[in-house]
Amino acid sequence: MTISRSVSAALGLRVHAKPLTRAFPSRPVDGFVGAIGNTPLIRLEKLSRQTGCNIIAKSELQNPGGSVKDRAALGVIQNAEAQGLLKPGGTVVEGTAGNTGIGLAHVCRARGYHCVIFMPNTQSQEKIDLLRMLGAEVFPVPAVAYEDPKNYNHQARDYAETLHNAIWTDQFDNTANAEAHYHSTGPEIWEQTQGDVDAFVCATGTGGTLAGVGRALKEKSDGRTQIWLADPPGSVLHSYVTSGGKLKERSGGSITEGIGQGRITNNLGTFVKQLDGALHIPDEKSIAMLYDLLDTEGLYLGASSALNVVAAVELAQKLGPGKTIATILCDGAYRYQSRLFSKAWLRAKGLEDAIPEHLEKYAVL
Ligand code: PMP
Repeated sequence: MTISRSVSAALGLRVHAKPLTRAFPSRPVDGFVGAIGNTPLIRLEKLSRQTGCNIIAKSELQNPGGSVKDRAALGVIQNAEAQGLLKPGGTVVEGTAGNTGIGLAHVCRARGYHCVIFMPNTQSQEKIDLLRMLGAEVFPVPAVAYEDPKNYNHQARDYAETLHNAIWTDQFDNTANAEAHYHSTGPEIWEQTQGDVDAFVCATGTGGTLAGVGRALKEKSDGRTQIWLADPPGSVLHSYVTSGGKLKERSGGSITEGIGQGRITNNLGTFVKQLDGALHIPDEKSIAMLYDLLDTEGLYLGASSALNVVAAVELAQKLGPGKTIATILCDGAYRYQSRLFSKAWLRAKGLEDAIPEHLEKYAVL
């Protein structure tokens, strides 16, 4: 039933200029897993106006587990099931900075599997708590380099080998991760823009999102859509791309959790050679954008989302007005709020001055 504007006004109901409607999904979906994907593509009004471009961002925080990694988590589990590697009552083991683990923990609960997560002990307490609330067993381990056998990924692999009916999902090198984005995120962006997308840019952790979306958009546009990488400090991929393939030692770091990489993962694979370019985004810019997006768009985002938007704006400036630039809002700030909205925490990281002065009111923790 629809109520006419005059009737709703007479009843004292608030009349919206535009009724709240969503194009899809138009039917009930099957459980947690069925609710993954089909996320909105949000046009960022102020930044679009300022750049003269269409800055659009895929709102992956609206996945039911709250991040872009729900898609990869489902992808690796479905792949293991299809290959007969994971049987009812089995155990899924993963090394993850958080969001993949959260996605896996949800999917495991929905599918009746046990979930065991190894993560670097530098990650936020919110993510550890959430994993445990979702029934996962969590082992925070020292944050050591990938080459070290005690790295969280190797510990996850070794632990899975000691269990019966268990798999290590191996999100970095298991290409079922990028495949999930190739078959869902990429085609969704293409459909939602009706094929009018000049460029896509995002940061990488495993590389699954960038390579999966990138490959889909390159294919659908016959190479017309440019695909760019955005890299935080401490990651080697920006210099790898801009130096034509030289891999340097990892040094320095970033406050952006879940992104940055020291090697070419299988998920990034040969797609790295098809990239049109790379942008290095310092933490100061990501923090300023994080607060600005909250203030101007009402978006409450994690730092990797803010970094992606900075990169989209810089790409818009490079490519010139009239272009459509897409990126990813990876997750919300809820998982990091004790850090990102704490002046003391940002001060300890040397980033307090990155908060624009007129937006300091948001740093309430
Ligand atoms: N942002 C956040 C917050 C993440 O947790 C991740 C995954 N680690 C990414 C971005 C990067 O996604 P991908 O692994 O697909 O490169």
